[in-house]
Amino acid sequence: MYCLAIETSCDDTCVAIIKNGNTILSNVISSQIDIHRRFGGVVPEVASRRHLEYLIPALEQAFQQANLTLKNIDLIAVTRGPGLTGSLLMGLCMGKTFSILHQKPFIAVNHLEGHLFASRLDHPDITPPFISLIVSGGHTELTVVQDWGKYVHLGRTRDDAAGEVFDKVAKYLKIGYPGGPLIDNRASNANPTRFHFRGGLEDQENYDFSFSGLKTAVIRAYDQLSDSSKKDEKGINDLLASFQQSVVRTLWKKTIRAVKKTGIRSVSLGGGVAANSSLRSLFSQKGFQNNIKVYLPSPALCTDNAAMIGSCGSFHFSFGRISPLDLEPDPQLRLGDV
Ligand code: ATP
Ligand code: FE
Repeated sequence: MYCLAIETSCDDTCVAIIKNGNTILSNVISSQIDIHRRFGGVVPEVASRRHLEYLIPALEQAFQQANLTLKNIDLIAVTRGPGLTGSLLMGLCMGKTFSILHQKPFIAVNHLEGHLFASRLDHPDITPPFISLIVSGGHTELTVVQDWGKYVHLGRTRDDAAGEVFDKVAKYLKIGYPGGPLIDNRASNANPTRFHFRGGLEDQENYDFSFSGLKTAVIRAYDQLSDSSKKDEKGINDLLASFQQSVVRTLWKKTIRAVKKTGIRSVSLGGGVAANSSLRSLFSQKGFQNNIKVYLPSPALCTDNAAMIGSCGSFHFSFGRISPLDLEPDPQLRLGDV
């Protein structure tokens, strides 16, 4: 069973071909980072125009790498939301057009559920129930996965998402875009104990997150530095490492709380921030110490890609599910929504 998957929810134009729901034959990602960098963030109108430009070359490349043609495809899976409406529309239109022209079944996929399925692609042994933490540019979601497709919401961010604070802190400190990987890199040899920051709600008895106050605290700490300290690369790296550590520590505290309350000792991570090296090492190390199995997708499957969409779409299709061709994008879709 070959699935052609298209993902255009934000600023990456992604096309993949997946075999039997679990083998990646091709996974093309045309990044628009260089275009959006000069604006310090994604410009929605520009993103959708670029998707239109990049989609056909990405499709051609995906077929070439997989050594297949559209005739071989059994299913077309496309991200429906959440994301930017204009960007989502580009992928959906392309997928629906192929579906009509080539008489192939079409299935719409929830982008967040896609992030969850990234773990399954890299770790075929992962079996529900497990706790899922999705940490991305727009979301910070703690969920119990009772079964694939059966999700119980535990908590989410009340303001900024984890990836969003990385990007906003980097923007304010003029470090570059996107902030996550740049901060990760600059924090790698720095001192994370030099500044003391706390994640919002860090020690509260709930599963919610709040990162907006932390962002303000980091910005204030930076503003209070003298002009020469602002130019001291090592000092700034320590500031970034301290910020990063407080995000990662907060994420771990809420996750371990969910593990203890539910008794479920498996944890899966997903979303772009799950590519963070400090997060990966802390979750791996603490997981080992606490006898918790931690499933981390490879960094390339943490950030946006179409392989995870193909895996998720193939799973639902195997239960006979397909989507109507008049389905519209849903920028606000939540995990568990079809
Ligand atoms: P969502 O999935 O919520 O709709 P998105 O698709 O835009 O949002 P992802 O592509 O999943 O988000 O993740 C992008 C985010 O991940 C960005 O905020 C980016 O800064 C962050 N990110 C990527 N790599 C790292 C890293 N190594 N460390 C920290 N953050 C990272
Ligand atoms: Fe994403």
